[in-house]
Amino acid sequence: MNTATQNIPFNVEEIRKDFPILKREVNGYPLVYFDNAATSQTPQQVIDVIVDYYSSYNANIHRGVHTLSQEATDAYEQARIKIQKHFNAAKAHEMIFTSGTTHGINLVANGFGALLKEGDEIIVSALEHHSNIVPWQMMCERNGAVLRVIPMNEDGTLMMDVYDTLLSEKTKLVFCNHISNALGTINPIESIIQKAHQAGAAVLIDGAQACPHVKPDVQALDVDFYVASAHKMCGPTGVGVLYGKEKWLKKLPPYQGGGEMIAEVTFEKTTYADLPHKFEAGTPNICGGIAFGAAVDYLNAVGFKAIAAYEHELLAYATEKLLAIDGVKIYGTSSAKTSVISFNIEGVHPYDIGTIVDKLGIAVRTGHHCAQPIMDYYKIPGTVRASFAFYNTREEIDRLVDAVIRAKKMLL
Ligand SMILES: *Cc1c(COP(=O)(O)O)cnc(C)c1O
Repeated sequence: MNTATQNIPFNVEEIRKDFPILKREVNGYPLVYFDNAATSQTPQQVIDVIVDYYSSYNANIHRGVHTLSQEATDAYEQARIKIQKHFNAAKAHEMIFTSGTTHGINLVANGFGALLKEGDEIIVSALEHHSNIVPWQMMCERNGAVLRVIPMNEDGTLMMDVYDTLLSEKTKLVFCNHISNALGTINPIESIIQKAHQAGAAVLIDGAQACPHVKPDVQALDVDFYVASAHKMCGPTGVGVLYGKEKWLKKLPPYQGGGEMIAEVTFEKTTYADLPHKFEAGTPNICGGIAFGAAVDYLNAVGFKAIAAYEHELLAYATEKLLAIDGVKIYGTSSAKTSVISFNIEGVHPYDIGTIVDKLGIAVRTGHHCAQPIMDYYKIPGTVRASFAFYNTREEIDRLVDAVIRAKKMLL
């Protein structure tokens, strides 16, 4: 037996057969896909659902009395229920379909912004994705609220003692990602949520990077809002979900006007539809929502415990191998992290490493990963980021390590 397949809780070679893209070659080499933190690959089971939708029941939903429209509506609403169960939300109408995490955050920022007044405070973490910083800055400009930031430590964790001092009766909302996309740090969201609630503030957690790796229980977390994107969870692009506690979703004004979100329209006054439709103006990504449900089924069939255990092994293996290369520095060294390695070679620009490893068929991300404040903290232009999924292997990591060694020889 090959050492790479020992002690793993599932058969990675079988799993890889589900992903047609993993069979392709890039620049004459078998593809090694290590850009999972940017988007995940799609299994045949999800592709089949997409093909089936367009081949047999493509129709607009919630409107038609005809058979196709009813089939599409049923499939879409069943996907919502699947996603509700996955996140353990109390009610299906607390799950709002969005176009993705960015949309979900903007929806909450816009709605919450309408409830804030000058001098109210919002806390965000230093580890945020740009999509989690810009909407709050825009909101603060509009209503005079103040943005405060939980600073980070050298190892990529948050300064939780500073968080304690930032919280006050002025704090209305706290935003934090569950897992950092740039460094892989798993943030202590249980404690972040609990402390925010003690101060009387609501919490939005950005789960875009967490949901491929863990199964969040929104009721156990007692979180007010939680957002995710399907395309990082083996689903298609252009669809995601916003979970919101019913009391908040009722309080927040709608984000967009249009069809589907109204109960009654006259030129004098429009009344809004019930949840979730109040936040789902216009024709949604129907096929995407249905495929998102299929992706959640797929991940649950593989199993989140198995995924976490296997990815943890990959992370430990890759960390050890990369650190053995002279001059490699890894950013984000918290003991609580998922399978993301952000690194640089001393004296080499990350972009140059990315270009050379791509020539060898390996997809990694280079740059600031939409998290420029983190790069500013380390005083670097960016990093090379290799992010692993449960369909990656140790052999692929060996290929990355060889490629990095080659790149280093060429560039130094
Ligand atoms: C990818 C990502 C986002 C943005 O997600 P979109 O699907 O592009 O809207 C936000 N936050 C984190 C932590 C991410 O990883």
